[in-house]
Amino acid sequence: MAELITHYIGGRFIESVRRFPNVNPVDGTVVGEVCEASSAEVDLAVQAARDALAGDWGRCSPVERSDWLRKLADGIERRFDEFVEAEVRDTGRTVRQARTLDVPRAIANFRFFADLVRQAHTECFETVTADGGRALNYTVRKPLGVVVAISPWNLPVLLFSWKVAPAMALGNAVVAKPSEETPSSAFLLAQVAHDIGFPAGAFNVLQGFGGQSAGQAMISHPDIDAVTFTGASATGAHIMKTVADGVKDVSFELGGKNAAIVFEDADFDAAVDGVVKSSFTNSGQVCLCSERVLVQRSIYDRFVAALKARTEALVLGRPDDPAADIGPMVSRTHQAKVLSYFELARREGATVVTGGEAPVFGDARDEGFWVRPTIWTGLPDDARCLREEIFGPVCHVAPFDTEDEAVARANDSDYGLATAIWTQNLSRAHRVSPRMRSGLVWVNTWYLRDLRTPFGGVRQSGIGREGGRHSLDFYSEITNICIKV
Ligand code: NAD
Repeated sequence: MAELITHYIGGRFIESVRRFPNVNPVDGTVVGEVCEASSAEVDLAVQAARDALAGDWGRCSPVERSDWLRKLADGIERRFDEFVEAEVRDTGRTVRQARTLDVPRAIANFRFFADLVRQAHTECFETVTADGGRALNYTVRKPLGVVVAISPWNLPVLLFSWKVAPAMALGNAVVAKPSEETPSSAFLLAQVAHDIGFPAGAFNVLQGFGGQSAGQAMISHPDIDAVTFTGASATGAHIMKTVADGVKDVSFELGGKNAAIVFEDADFDAAVDGVVKSSFTNSGQVCLCSERVLVQRSIYDRFVAALKARTEALVLGRPDDPAADIGPMVSRTHQAKVLSYFELARREGATVVTGGEAPVFGDARDEGFWVRPTIWTGLPDDARCLREEIFGPVCHVAPFDTEDEAVARANDSDYGLATAIWTQNLSRAHRVSPRMRSGLVWVNTWYLRDLRTPFGGVRQSGIGREGGRHSLDFYSEITNICIKV
């Protein structure tokens, strides 16, 4: 029988009457059934979170909370293979990726914030007062309260844990929702929490859709204190409007239309490999992926030829195929969206260097949601395909002549998440990096993360930063205490 994925509210697994199918994107088969939370279940979860804050969870010290997070990490590790299977089943990604990136990063997220909260300190100032006396000012960190965490489907357990771990480390009670496309790993995490006896109500998981469903009920609930959201920019804007009347805190990690700039002085092979990685990792379904590649004219033709050869060598394969590099799009809807951009690109005048269509396998995968890794050239900078986030395995390569031109064109976007720069000239790397209008710049690498560093975007790519002390700052409220000595 297909698995039933339920909610986890106040320490109990709760079913609901409304359900929807969980579909495997590799071949379109239904692999499970997912409960859809109604506003009644959202009410229950928010109340359970409130009760937890007023009860045992609210009384936990930072060290005790840190211990709980470590136990969650250990619990994921014990069920590592099940988490891998859940991620693979929901997304169709390679087993290799789930084993080396997604699940290890979820474990690392819990351990990292468990350690960070143990070491966290606050400010203290000795103040000389006007009458020659003294005062002592110091700050205390307190949880925000009930934090709603909503995450997308592209890196399910990695992004879900990136929110719930710091929120709980700081003592908040969480009401979290994974994407409707990828419900399984959050459900497993609820099982882990349950099995270790995690304080009831501190961690609640609701399943369901976004608009006109669980997500909407969560963000409009009057008794929540903050929303941490990763997803599309349009959804972020909608959430912001919804919470505006209650002046709730928001932290948003949103879309991107990222540039990679390859200078003629780059290590050529490393740059080609790097752009293959930054364009096609997770089938291009990473917010950090480069969809706009700018290459200095003197190496442009050679670069396009090498990129084409490397891209055509990528293997579209089933998740358990050790040779597989690329999996399907997450859903039929997303496949249709990406293919509609392939069509639009042709109308906008693109030259299709490779790909540009759905593959035909002649087996069950033809019922799945695959698209070929695709490279375009020849589009004008104002083409919709160069301005809108596609979120698939596709990049456009354009030539540039000068450093200033590359910077201006890379920055010419409504988004500003991540830029990758390829150069061996140290001065150029230092000169160009700070000029990029993006929250993240990588030089001669891509997606190399240190969890202590700030992560987030500018413009339509987000609000605020998460990671290290930036997460501490978002997930807590600070009170300044001034004592006249
Ligand atoms: P999405 O905005 O459609 O959905 C994200 C989540 O929000 C899902 O859980 C969904 O159910 C929920 N949601 C949707 N509408 C809602 C509403 N009205 N109220 C409350 N919740 C709602 O995004 P997606 O398609 O799942 O994810 C892809 C997007 O996420 C891309 O734009 C990508 O760039 C972005 N993303 C950004 C980052 C980052 O760190 N900046 C990371 C990953 C993905």
